[in-house]
Amino acid sequence: MTVVSEPQLPPDQIVRLHRRGGELLPLASLTHDGGEPPAEWVEALAALADRLGQSYPFADAQYLGQMLKPPHPVAWAGYAMAMLLNSNNHAFDGGPATAHLEREAVDQIARMLHQETHLSHLTASGTIANLEALWVARSLHPEQVVVSSAQAHYTHARISEVVGARHETIAATAHGTLDLAALEERLQLGGVGTVVATLGSTGLGVLDPIDRIADLCEEYAARLHIDAAYGGFFAILADGGTPGVARGPFDALDRADSIAIDPHKHGLQPYGCGCIVFRDPSVGQFYKHDSPYTYFTSDELHPGEISLECSRSGAAAAALWATLRAVPLTREGLGSHLAGARSAALALADHIRLLDGWTLVLEPDLDIVCWYPTRTTASAVTAATDVAFQQLAERGWHVAKLVVSATDLGLEADQPTATVLRSTLMKPEHADIVDVFAGVLAALDLGV
Ligand SMILES: *Cc1c(COP(=O)(O)O)cnc(C)c1O
Repeated sequence: MTVVSEPQLPPDQIVRLHRRGGELLPLASLTHDGGEPPAEWVEALAALADRLGQSYPFADAQYLGQMLKPPHPVAWAGYAMAMLLNSNNHAFDGGPATAHLEREAVDQIARMLHQETHLSHLTASGTIANLEALWVARSLHPEQVVVSSAQAHYTHARISEVVGARHETIAATAHGTLDLAALEERLQLGGVGTVVATLGSTGLGVLDPIDRIADLCEEYAARLHIDAAYGGFFAILADGGTPGVARGPFDALDRADSIAIDPHKHGLQPYGCGCIVFRDPSVGQFYKHDSPYTYFTSDELHPGEISLECSRSGAAAAALWATLRAVPLTREGLGSHLAGARSAALALADHIRLLDGWTLVLEPDLDIVCWYPTRTTASAVTAATDVAFQQLAERGWHVAKLVVSATDLGLEADQPTATVLRSTLMKPEHADIVDVFAGVLAALDLGV
């Protein structure tokens, strides 16, 4: 058995963590200037830096594994600044400034998603955003079924259980998209209240054909919820420019009844920042409740009146607002980050297509690339993938793995699934290392 060593940051990054911890303590209070922090505070942060050192270098271009990267400096500083107040976006009383910042920020996101008269707010995560969407969907169609594809995020089935909705899975095509024929067949049987489509699946990073799904939802009077947690921000690149992404699925976003999107994935935010957008503001009625504690200052609808969660981070809203001011939702702004990521994915796919001994799973729709050592059986692909993963880690390259159906890959299915390599090329810096990485892949000797 091979043992993967404890993850460890490069030594210079651990040193920097220590230094940053020391620099931060004196800054961490609004009401007091300077002064030496107590020794036990300094010691606690030093101990923390050591523990954080046992981590993968998510900031580095050589980390191209999971959906992880540090936030934008403006988000980071904005979050820290707003934490000096630690406002609560549950209500205007708790977060008078940050509640307004939230409104302005989510309005920009909703417009990017082609939603004009929307009801939107931030959530703790994409999961909570999806939960709110399915809760509203169930409230509107209490007896009806929620369907999502086999490649949709695993939480949709679980969320349906939580909100008390029946859930069914619709087959995906060999390309990982929701199977339109299977969806139509299911819709014909009746009883489907809501269809969940995915814009950027978590595994393969593929786009469901939202335009065609929207047609079917219209025909069969089902709600359409789009899980754009990962891919939503790529709407900026769906403008016909280069590098670009397919326009059809993004152009159809205005036909969605609700959309979940994660600023903490491609919006350069720290974790704790999801977002839900509803097309019809009247769904706010489902959130109606009385709170004797909080609503005193304003006749406007309070954020807590349109959100399932009670306390929410005002700092998350502040960080997002400040980031969008510095890096607007345009091709020149956030689009330049996304374009770097997209270009890196296209370049890696180009390399793999030309490399002997490797096979691309799919042409990337966004910035996720999956590929595997060329073998004929599912078990041989899996064994070789494991060796490749290990050898790459030993050389300082962090990729991820994904389990896919053997028949979808066209392999001899001596076992039902095969494990492949998967890379999320979320950082523009990846574009600079793709050629080197391809050279490393070419030089691996898998021996199996
Ligand atoms: C990441 C992701 C989620 C879950 O979002 P969290 O913010 O991790 O809770 C849901 N759907 C898709 C498509 C995702 O990529």
